[in-house]
Amino acid sequence: MLWIKNGRVLDPSSKTDGMLDVLLDGERIARVGPHLEAPGAETFDAEGLVVAPGFIDLHCHLREPGQELSETIETGTRAAARGGFTAVCCMPNTQPVNDNASVTRSIVERSAQSASVRVWPIGAASVGSKGEAIAEIAAMKAAGIVGVSDDGKPIATARLMRQVMEYADSLRLPVIDHCEDPSLFAGGAMREGAQALRLGLQGIPAESESIAVGRDVEMARLTGARLHIAHLSTQRSVEHVRRAKERGLRVTCEVTPHHFTLTDEDVRYDTRYKMNPPLALRDDRVALIEALIDGSVDAIATDHAPHHPASKEVEFDRAPFGITGFETALALGLSELVGKAKMPLMRLVELFTTGPARVLGIERKIAVGEPADLTLFSTTREWTFYAADSASKSRNTPFDGRAFQGGPIAAIVRGRIVSRL
Ligand SMILES: [Zn+2]
Ligand SMILES: [Zn+2]
Repeated sequence: MLWIKNGRVLDPSSKTDGMLDVLLDGERIARVGPHLEAPGAETFDAEGLVVAPGFIDLHCHLREPGQELSETIETGTRAAARGGFTAVCCMPNTQPVNDNASVTRSIVERSAQSASVRVWPIGAASVGSKGEAIAEIAAMKAAGIVGVSDDGKPIATARLMRQVMEYADSLRLPVIDHCEDPSLFAGGAMREGAQALRLGLQGIPAESESIAVGRDVEMARLTGARLHIAHLSTQRSVEHVRRAKERGLRVTCEVTPHHFTLTDEDVRYDTRYKMNPPLALRDDRVALIEALIDGSVDAIATDHAPHHPASKEVEFDRAPFGITGFETALALGLSELVGKAKMPLMRLVELFTTGPARVLGIERKIAVGEPADLTLFSTTREWTFYAADSASKSRNTPFDGRAFQGGPIAAIVRGRIVSRL
């Protein structure tokens, strides 16, 4: 038994916000209430802390199998736990690609042996994520996938998207798309605009993303299937999603911490500012924050994309896209959204818990009988993030040395404390 005392319980599913104790018995929540008594139970004094349902990250790259120099399931999920996450969805662009049940099973087995948090694999939409033949989605679902995506690339054609949507929807899986028009994207290194001109880097127009979002929304209308847009980054994409939701389509989306924190003006000749989609313009960032607050965005997802130092220590236009993100996600939300943009704290918690859960078609709440997954965090702790101290194998983050107020304190998975500051 684990008795979490004196915390402020914030649960978006029931709109609970109060000083409550939570008692965990094995893998389930046994009791929730004011001033519980649990003699003999292990205690965790959560005075001054927020106790939230376990955070879910819909989008990360754990690099195992195949790229273990950059990350493994063990190191990646340790970083996730430190960031307060209790479950992470890992994208299929490993080596080999997770496009069949045997790769899915190996990820599930490796996770059972070495992961700190729950690992929910995403299966590839097409064989090898090549955009040609549809992958064995039903067999992967039986092995444990929770969604399908060709992340790293868009689902190549509208025709393939139609097939994938119809197939995935019959299996109650969301289709997650990395929205990008390859012909507009081609060779670009950062968002098109004044800063790209100043740096002499090839720009990627915002329409590379929004054209693909528009196509996908049309396909969601045609098929009636569930569509989730990964890492939304532009104002025009937000407009597409907002309109789709108004029309009652089953469309959801996520935004990353780096896109709601930084813009193209922050980019310099430093490959830690190179990610896909690229950092957008100031107006895009304003639109994303507005959409995060008003409910047009469903989840904050990290797109944690570790790269071994050697691969990032090259010229900007030759470096791979992507940055790490687990350990700074919550702190960036607290400072940029709750602190500066005045987002209610309950809404921020929703974006890490019930929001992503809904995308996956599950629930997330603090109630008797529910899984004992909890995230404890502080809104006041002053601390500085140093990449050198990260639990991840990689260091490619633009937030090295950033000072924060508030951040993760503990992650509890299946009733066990898997990370504690
Ligand atoms: Zn992507
Ligand atoms: Zn990704």
